[in-house]
Amino acid sequence: TEGKTPLADRSPDELAAFLAAQKTAYDALQARGLKLDLTRGKPAPEQLDLSNALLTLPTSYKDADGVDVRNYGGLEGIREIREMFAELLWVEPSQIVAGGNASLVMMREVLTDLWLHGAVDGERPWGQEEKVTFICPVPGYDRHFTLLDWFGIDTVTVPMNADGPDMDEVERLAASDPSIKGIWIVPTYANPTGSVVTQEVAARLASMPTAAPDFKILWDNAYALHHLTQDEAKTADILGLCSAAGHPHRPIQFASTSKITFAGAGVAFLAASVENVGWYTKHLGAGAIGPDKVNQLRHVEFFGSADGVRQHMAKHRDILAPKFAAVLSVLEEKLGGLGVATWTDPTGGYFVSLDVVDGTAARVVQLAKDAGIALTPAGASFPGGNDPRDRNIRLAPSFPSLEAVRDTMEAVATCVLLAAAEHLSA
Ligand code: PLP
Repeated sequence: TEGKTPLADRSPDELAAFLAAQKTAYDALQARGLKLDLTRGKPAPEQLDLSNALLTLPTSYKDADGVDVRNYGGLEGIREIREMFAELLWVEPSQIVAGGNASLVMMREVLTDLWLHGAVDGERPWGQEEKVTFICPVPGYDRHFTLLDWFGIDTVTVPMNADGPDMDEVERLAASDPSIKGIWIVPTYANPTGSVVTQEVAARLASMPTAAPDFKILWDNAYALHHLTQDEAKTADILGLCSAAGHPHRPIQFASTSKITFAGAGVAFLAASVENVGWYTKHLGAGAIGPDKVNQLRHVEFFGSADGVRQHMAKHRDILAPKFAAVLSVLEEKLGGLGVATWTDPTGGYFVSLDVVDGTAARVVQLAKDAGIALTPAGASFPGGNDPRDRNIRLAPSFPSLEAVRDTMEAVATCVLLAAAEHLSA
C-alpha cells in the first residue's frame, strides 16, 4: 500500500502530498498545546515508591562486624553491602568499594587521581602528559563526555554496535597512540543504544595491546541489573578477563543503586583489582573519613540478600516494560516501512536510541519543542554535542506515565515524518 511505501521511492507529486499531510498533522499537534517531557532518564515516582521502606530503616546501628555505623570510619564501605554487590557484579568482596550516592562522583574521583597522581601501572600522572585522549563509543552517555571535557581530555569516537564498540577501530587506536589512555564502556544495556558488550568483545578489550602502559577501561555498569525482559544479560567479567590477559589493573568498574532504590540517595560502587582498590581508597582518604554507612546498612536491611536485589529489579521491570513497549509500538506503527528512521529494541536499561533521516535530528527536536514536547537535545550523545550526521535522538520513557509516553511518541513520530518530508522535498 502507498501508506507504507518508503518516502524515497515516491514520486514528486506523492511526496508533495505527503508533506502537506504532515504539515496538517503537525498543525493539529501544535494546537493541542501539549506539555510533555521525554528527556530524563529518571525513575518514575511509582518506581521510587518501591523503596519507601528505606525511609524507616535501619532498625539497627551496628553492622555485622559490630561496627557502629553512626560513627566515622570504614572508607571502603561496610562488609555486608560489599559482599552483596560483589555477588551481583561477579567480583570478589576484596575488589569492591561501597561509597556515597553517586557513581558519577567516583568516576570523577578516579580521573582526578589519575590526573594528579597517576595509575598503579603508570609512569607519571596523566596531568603531566602532553596530551590525554579517550576513546568514546558513540552514541554514548553525555556526562562521560562532559567529564572528559572538564579535564581537557581529547576524545576520539568509534561506532557503538549491538555487541559493543567497533573493536577493529578500538584495537587500532589503542595500539598506535600512547596518548590514548582509556575508553568508556557501558557494558550492559548501554546508554542510549541498549547494546550489551559480548564476551568476545570484552575479551578483545581485555587482551588488546595498548601503546599506553596505563590504559584504563572505565566500565560503567550503571544498568547491570536493569533487565526489561526475561532474557537477562549477564555482564562479561571484565576484571577476570583482564587479569587472565595480564592486564589486571586495566578495568575499573562502576555501578550504583541510583535506579534500584533512590536516584538521589542510593549507594555507589567501584570494583577493580585489589591494588586499584587500595589506590582509590588511599586517595579518597585525603578528603574523606568514611562513607554514609547508615545508608549502606539501610540498603542491606532492605534487600536482605543479593537475591532480594534481583527480586526488587523485577518490580521495576513490571513498571518499565510497558512504557518501552509503547515507545516501540508507536514507532513501528507510525514510522515502520517508510525508510525515515531506525531504532533500538533494548532488553534492558533506560533508553531507546532513535536514528532519523541524516541531517534532520536537530529539526525534529526543534519541531517537538515548538509543539510542547521536550526531547534530549540532538547531538547530546556525542562528545561536544556534535553528531556529525545529525541523526540521533535519545528517548527516555521511564519518567512519564504510560499514557504520556504514548502521547509523546505519537507527537515525536509526527515531527520525524514532517522533518523527513521537508528534507526529501528540498
Ligand atoms: N552512568 C550511566 C551510563 C548513566 O546513564 C547514569 C545515569 O543516567 C549514571 C552513570 C549516573 O550514575 P549515578 O547515579 O550512580 O551517579
